[in-house]
Amino acid sequence: MKTKKVITDNPKDFYHGKKVFVRVDFNVPIDNEKNTIREDYRIRRAIPTIDFLINAGAKVILGSHLGRPKGKKNKNLSLELVAVRLSQLIDKKVYFCDDFTDKGWPEKINNLDNGSVVLLENLRFYNEETENDDHFSVTLASLADIYVNDAFGTSHRAHASTYGMALKFKSKLAGFLVDKELKFISKMIGEVEHPFVVIIGGSKIKDKITAMAKLLDKADKIIIAGGAAYTFLKARGINIGNSIFEQDMLDWAKDVYSKYSDKIVLPVDHLVSESIEKTNSCLIVDQEIPDDYQAFDIGPKTIELFNSIIKGPGCIFWNGPMGVFELDKYSSGTIHVARAVALATWRGAVSVVGGGETIAALRKAEVLESEISHMSTGGGALLEYLGGSDLPGIEILD
Ligand code: ADP
Ligand code: MG
Repeated sequence: MKTKKVITDNPKDFYHGKKVFVRVDFNVPIDNEKNTIREDYRIRRAIPTIDFLINAGAKVILGSHLGRPKGKKNKNLSLELVAVRLSQLIDKKVYFCDDFTDKGWPEKINNLDNGSVVLLENLRFYNEETENDDHFSVTLASLADIYVNDAFGTSHRAHASTYGMALKFKSKLAGFLVDKELKFISKMIGEVEHPFVVIIGGSKIKDKITAMAKLLDKADKIIIAGGAAYTFLKARGINIGNSIFEQDMLDWAKDVYSKYSDKIVLPVDHLVSESIEKTNSCLIVDQEIPDDYQAFDIGPKTIELFNSIIKGPGCIFWNGPMGVFELDKYSSGTIHVARAVALATWRGAVSVVGGGETIAALRKAEVLESEISHMSTGGGALLEYLGGSDLPGIEILD
C-alpha cells in the first residue's frame, strides 16, 4: 500500500498563519424549491479536517464542485447555502467567495485573521476546472500556500482543483477523510480476510467491470443483483422481459460467468411490474421474467439466498442497490441486504460500502454509520481504485 502524507504528519505550527486550500466534496443534494440542503452528510464529514486547520491557526480556503453546471453560473447549483450550513456546524463565520478570479478576493483572503474559513463558489462554474486548464490552476493555487485533498470521491478526475493546481504546491497532503478512505480500501486490495463477499448492484455494470474483474479473482462469492444482474441473466439465455440490460456487455458477461460460475451468485426470483409506476401490477416471479414485465427488485427467495452468504466474519464490499429502492415498493431487497451487511459487521466482518445511492440506501434501511466498518464517499473513484487504477488526485499527494 502506498502511504500518503496526512495533515497530522506535520507539527501544528507548520500551518500557523498559512493559507491552506482544501479540496472538499460538498456535492450535496439541494432542494431548490425550499432553498435548503436536503442532506448535509458530506459537509459534516469534512469537519475534522477543517477543525484541525482552524485550531492550527491556518486560513482555510475550501473548494468544491456541486452538480454539473457545465462551465456556466447556475444559481441552483451555488455553494452559498453550503457556506451558511457550514457556518452553523462549525459555529463560526464562513466567508463566501462568489468569484475567486475577481481581483479583490486574493487580497481579501490575505487580510483575514488566522483561523478564518472561506468557501469558494462552485468550481465547475468555470469550464477550466474540468479541462484542468493551467492558467486556471495557477490562479487557484496562488490563493494558498499548502494544498490538502479531502475529497476522495473526485480523486479519479484530473481536474484543476484535484490535480492541476496541486502540482503547483510544495506541500500536498491528505485530509482525514482521504486518509481513512485509503486505509480501508487498501484492506480490499491487499491481503483480504476470507470469506470475501462482494455485492454489486445498481443500474450499470459498464463502469464497474475493471473493479469487478479484479475482485472476481479475490472474492469467494460475488453477488450480482439490481439492474446489473439482467445483463448476466440475459447472457445466460434467460428471459428478462423488459428489464434493463447492456447490449454491449452481453459477451463480457457471458465470458465472465462461464469462468466464475462457482463464485457468481445471481437473483433466483424477482419483483416485477409492467412499468415503474404501475405498482399495482407487481408480481413475484422465479427465474424467467414474462414479456412486458420489468424487474425492479429481487424476490424473497433471493433475499434468503443472499442472507445465507452475507454472514461474516471476513470481508464484505458492497456497491449498488438491489433494486429501485428509491420507491418503497421496490426497496425490500436493498433494505434486507443493508441489514445483512450490518449484521455481518456485528459478527466481525470488515465491511466497506460505497456509492452515492448505496449510502442513501443504508440510511433508508436505518443502518447506522457505526454498523458499517467504512462508508466510502466515492463511487467511481472507489471502483477505479479497487480496479487497480492510480487516482490522479491521490497520486499527486506527498
Ligand atoms: P451507486 O450510486 O451506489 O454507485 P449506481 O449509481 O450504480 O449506485 O446505481 C443506483 C441506481 O440503480 C439506483 O438509482 C437504482 O434505482 C438503480 N437500480 C437498481 N436496480 C435496478 C433495476 N432492477 N432496474 C432499474 N434500475 C435499477
Ligand atoms: Mg449512482
